[in-house]
Amino acid sequence: MESKNKIALVTGGSRGLGKNAALKIAAKGINVIVTYQSKKDEAENTVEEIKKLGVKAAALQLNVADSTTFESFFKEIKSVLQSTFDADKFDFLVNNAGIGHHAAFAETKEEDFDNLVNIHFKGPFFLTQKALEILNDGGGIINISSGLARFSLPGSSAYGAMKGAMEVLTRYQAKELGAKGIRSNIIAPGAIETDFSGGAVRDNERLNKMIASQTALGRVGLPDDIGGAVAFLCTEEAKWINAQRIEISGGMFL
Ligand code: NAP
Repeated sequence: MESKNKIALVTGGSRGLGKNAALKIAAKGINVIVTYQSKKDEAENTVEEIKKLGVKAAALQLNVADSTTFESFFKEIKSVLQSTFDADKFDFLVNNAGIGHHAAFAETKEEDFDNLVNIHFKGPFFLTQKALEILNDGGGIINISSGLARFSLPGSSAYGAMKGAMEVLTRYQAKELGAKGIRSNIIAPGAIETDFSGGAVRDNERLNKMIASQTALGRVGLPDDIGGAVAFLCTEEAKWINAQRIEISGGMFL
């Protein structure tokens, strides 16, 4: 699995964990397509930063919550693969795009549940299904879960359950796609300082301190703590890692 000429598609690569993963993947010599939902400028900045690392890059708009758009999205992907990367297929799909949600189980609204399930489960399920047609044999899927699928904090029942569903799906993908040499793994970050959930982990001092106090390494996570592991899963060194949940939390709630 030579990195040169490999291509990764990172959803939600305009900011936060997706951006850091995209840059770390690029640093391994792998070309990158990032997607954004609405922040085109930020996605274009990411593309410029990636190009400075000496690989090719492009940004495309995608709403993972709307599976009816996936057909036209992959038409665009095919066209960009040709025009920017001189390729028909790509190698790694990082299902990273997502939003936070906080509501007690008793108060979770059905419309919020539906939006979350579209973004965090249905979206990645059918996006990956559609991607298979142009995902190279020997490639990989990297899904993003959360520590909240292992431990429980009040207010995350819907979000945590959907991340749990992604962990189960990852094993099924590994089982069914192994015949093509496609590996599927899932990374479960702990609490990370990004814009996620209104930047709560970063900006809410009380929450930040509480998490740091429950983390073996004594602080909350940063995007840079996660991206390297995503990039590693796109390398030859990770060729035998399959169907794994890898928690990256500095040892949270042990
Ligand atoms: P973030 O900084 O808020 O970035 C979210 C990214 O997802 C942005 O690129 C955004 O695009 C994109 N996005 C949001 N909704 C979308 C939609 N409906 N369709 C397509 N793209 C969409 O969040 P993050 O912290 O990097 O989170 C990334 C992933 O890590 C998520 O799956 C999240 O559940 C998971 N995670 C985060 C934490 C944490 O503490 N931060 C912990 C565990 C797991 P725009 O820039 O265009 O808005």
